[in-house]
Amino acid sequence: MKKRLAVGAVLFLVGAAAMGYWLTRPAPAPPGKVIRDLGKVEERLKAAVAGSARLSLRELGKARYGTWESPIWAVTCKPPGTPKRHLLLVGGTHGNEPAGPEMLLQFVEELGRGEAGDPEAVLDIVPVVNPWGWAHNRRGNGDGLDINRDFVAFKTQEGRLIRDFIGSTHYDLGADFHESRYADGFFLFQYSDPDQAFARSIIAAERGQGFPIEQNTWFLILKTHDGLILAPRWTLTCARIARLFSFGNYMGYGYAEHAFTVETPKRLPMKDRVSMHRTSLRMFLEKGLESSAH
Ligand SMILES: [Zn+2]
Repeated sequence: MKKRLAVGAVLFLVGAAAMGYWLTRPAPAPPGKVIRDLGKVEERLKAAVAGSARLSLRELGKARYGTWESPIWAVTCKPPGTPKRHLLLVGGTHGNEPAGPEMLLQFVEELGRGEAGDPEAVLDIVPVVNPWGWAHNRRGNGDGLDINRDFVAFKTQEGRLIRDFIGSTHYDLGADFHESRYADGFFLFQYSDPDQAFARSIIAAERGQGFPIEQNTWFLILKTHDGLILAPRWTLTCARIARLFSFGNYMGYGYAEHAFTVETPKRLPMKDRVSMHRTSLRMFLEKGLESSAH
């Protein structure tokens, strides 16, 4: 068993180092075409917050590339009473995965109308971590770097702003909403925690909505098992050494009690992907309610 673990760790490290090099190699940002309007994001956030006493909007800072710049926005939703939990929800770390940001924007609008939320939790929401990538429909940021492999080195402006925003907060739950171009169905990563019960209930909820569940996606040596990739803590340590540390890894390594990366298949219609993300978010909020019971 020990030998298998050692071989696994070596294979993971070698693979991670190769992948890390490939994904984080600096590439000059091509001029690119703007296909999405960040002004609309700002408008929607401001309109949602304007109508609500519980919501506040702030800029974590600006992502800047030459003359191009955009704020990275964070919305905080405070409960009416004393908060019992703190959740962090982020999307758009990869700019070409628009379903997460759209779901989070719609969720902020629902919060603004008082139609959603958790009566006992503070919700920190960063709908578009990578505004340049989102506007240009690119995975990386304006320097061609993958923000979601940058949570050790912090070479990216965006990674640093998120790190500073989190500070030393320990969240009860952290979730990052992504999309996969390889998958045929929904899946999620769970970090550090071997208990599958809650993740299985999310997958059951997605299946119950009629959505397909991914059976065959690999991340290095980790594979989906009926929609779930369990990343044990030692794989996070390897990812850290290999400088491949994702936002989910970072959360799962010490900044959140429960950390997830949610993945929807890009080949399905946008409406379905948004709905899949929303179903997972509903379950995350319910988990909070359930854990406050004990
Ligand atoms: Zn992604």
